[in-house]
Amino acid sequence: MEAVATDGRTLLESPLDRVLGARTAKALSRLGLETVSDLLNHAPRRYVRRGELVPLSHAHEGDSVTVVATVLGTSMRPMNARRGFLLKVMISDGNVDMSLTFFAKSSRPLAFHEMKLKPGTVATFSGTVSSYRGELQLTHPEYEVLEDGGDVDKDEIARPRPLYPSAVNVPTWTIEKAIATILDQVQPADIPEPLPESFRTRHGLLGAYDALMGLHRPGLDADWQRARERMKFEEALILQTVLIQRGHEAAAVDSTPRPARPDGLAAAFDARLPFELTEGQRLVGDQISADLASSRPMTRLLQGDVGSGKTIVALRAMLQVVDGGGQAALLAPTEVLAEQHFRSITSMLGELALGGLLSDLGTRVDLLTGTMGAKATREVLGRVAGGETGIIIGTHALLSDRVQIPFLSLAIVDEQHRFGVDQREALRARPGVNLLVMTATPIPRTLAMTAFGDLAVSELTELPRGRGDVTTTIVPAGKTSWVDRVWERVAEDVTAGGRAFVVCPRIDPDDEATGLESSDENPRPPLSSVVDTADQLRRNPALAGITIGTLTGPMSPEDKTSIMAAFQDGTAPVLVATTVIEVGVDVPDATTMIILDADRFGLSQLHQLRGRIGRGTKPGLCLALSWAPEGTIAAERLAAFADTRDGFALAERDMELRREGDVLGASQSGAHSHLRHLEIRKDVRVIEMARDDAIELVAQAPDLSPWPGLRDAVNAARRRSEIDYLGRN
Ligand code: ADP
Ligand code: MG
Repeated sequence: MEAVATDGRTLLESPLDRVLGARTAKALSRLGLETVSDLLNHAPRRYVRRGELVPLSHAHEGDSVTVVATVLGTSMRPMNARRGFLLKVMISDGNVDMSLTFFAKSSRPLAFHEMKLKPGTVATFSGTVSSYRGELQLTHPEYEVLEDGGDVDKDEIARPRPLYPSAVNVPTWTIEKAIATILDQVQPADIPEPLPESFRTRHGLLGAYDALMGLHRPGLDADWQRARERMKFEEALILQTVLIQRGHEAAAVDSTPRPARPDGLAAAFDARLPFELTEGQRLVGDQISADLASSRPMTRLLQGDVGSGKTIVALRAMLQVVDGGGQAALLAPTEVLAEQHFRSITSMLGELALGGLLSDLGTRVDLLTGTMGAKATREVLGRVAGGETGIIIGTHALLSDRVQIPFLSLAIVDEQHRFGVDQREALRARPGVNLLVMTATPIPRTLAMTAFGDLAVSELTELPRGRGDVTTTIVPAGKTSWVDRVWERVAEDVTAGGRAFVVCPRIDPDDEATGLESSDENPRPPLSSVVDTADQLRRNPALAGITIGTLTGPMSPEDKTSIMAAFQDGTAPVLVATTVIEVGVDVPDATTMIILDADRFGLSQLHQLRGRIGRGTKPGLCLALSWAPEGTIAAERLAAFADTRDGFALAERDMELRREGDVLGASQSGAHSHLRHLEIRKDVRVIEMARDDAIELVAQAPDLSPWPGLRDAVNAARRRSEIDYLGRN
């Protein structure tokens, strides 16, 4: 203990090298673990029940097993169906033999296993049993070599063992040992208790110290289960308290009212609209208009299926704010989408976007993205800071501290589900600014409440009239004649003046494995890549004479712009792309959408992709190529996709299918969030209870002073989300 208490830091704040030595600390830092607190908060992914040491003879396909066995031999070879290597390890428990398989792109990591698993080595192996050609095996099992040659302590084995998220060369046992070293030194008084006593009693939760012990050193399964429950409550309470407190602070600041003006830009824009607004667009427009006219800051979510016309709603709101002397910002998740918004909004506005050059009615519209040149950026920043720019459109670069928007009155987030939790927090943290978030993906209530606190919801339920139909067909990717027909259809469509998107799951064939590809047992060709596909199509006689463009995320902004322009004007009417075109891209002439390896995409992603066509009056055709065998969840997902174009119905079906254990596609919970225990989709009950308590606590004492533990934890969480968000810009 004296090693850590000398410099006034608490044990939890101590850097790991003080407590564990430089070598272990360095290894753990690869997992982002720097302090004792980081390490103690490194939550086990799951627990292996060694009490159920299964004799190999009892193992069945699909079982999760832990066995003690002896290595008989190993063999390594290149794989047959795809690049990479395969290591086979034969083990035996004395009665039955079984094989282990490990795969890797290079032979190096496999050589590491081979070295540790020499013939005669006794180890504990755990994993899920699968069968391959009638033989049972474990794929990529976790294992621990038993140094004493198999003389295993029965009590030790009966204990549920935590398995930690680990890294190459930082296996779960290293983490377990490091945590054990620390737990030996920890006293109950070292562990702060963020949960108010009343809250703990009400929900029957373990104390902080006991929970920590239960999490890392459970004696029984019930120990870690109770510990996890308490951790979930703790995270939920801290998160909800942060949100409620922010809500309180935001509501305490008035927004400047920006009422609609009959003689303003918004009215002039309405008068020159080339189409009639749908009823939904008008209704939602009125709701937003009233919000903007009041001095209470707006927090509104606009849900509307792909193609329902959310951009116009956003633009009309922005114009009203500009009419009232304010500035408006439109935030898009990708550069492609930000640029498109900029182009379509300036063109819809026409001379109204000329900043009052031609008439006294007008405003300036500017674009800001992270990859713009220094000079252009400086100019835009200057105009925005000077108040000359009324509407600023951009990517998350807009959230940077360098961007001063002195009269910011309305912030609009398009396709909000593509932003991380912390970025949304950053937006909410601007007092007095009206916030409109838009999404085509319906958000579950708890998520909405977690992401935004209190918010009003508007919906666009109809699509604008006169939209072409879209037919969706699932094409078995293994049938050559069908696939040939796909490319003929593309050629016919383009000849008739249409445009075709071809979407691939990866950029080039050498891309990192995504974990979604085939295994040696279930061979399928490698996932299609933009590079290969474009190459093949350029050589395909069916497409002779048709220029084929490619678009991927890492391309330069100039290239992206020119490729999109060539696609739009028909110079390069076939565009092979990654899912960069997934959200928001609006090319009315686009009529055909080909999705390669469609079985590897999530349902909402497929829906978004299909939303790129059928936006004009021409009918659209979506062909989804699939390798999914009949009866799999992937095949069912595709069947649902072909069955309906209704995004809300699809979202429901998606939830049902997910519940069956298949989670593909982007998670809405935000990859950058700090939640370690809480699962926003699953822990609805916990979140709701925590929210009720947070409301009560903040109402009682907004500064949380009666509960110093909670106050400290909440302040730390707020600091962290600010730092994180700054760090990302
Ligand atoms: P989303 O809701 O998916 O963002 P957009 O705002 O991109 O949809 O609109 C899709 C297309 O529909 C755009 O080309 C837009 O100009 C057009 N559109 C929007 N509203 C109407 C309307 N009321 N009538 C006809 N077309 C419309
Ligand atoms: Mg849109």
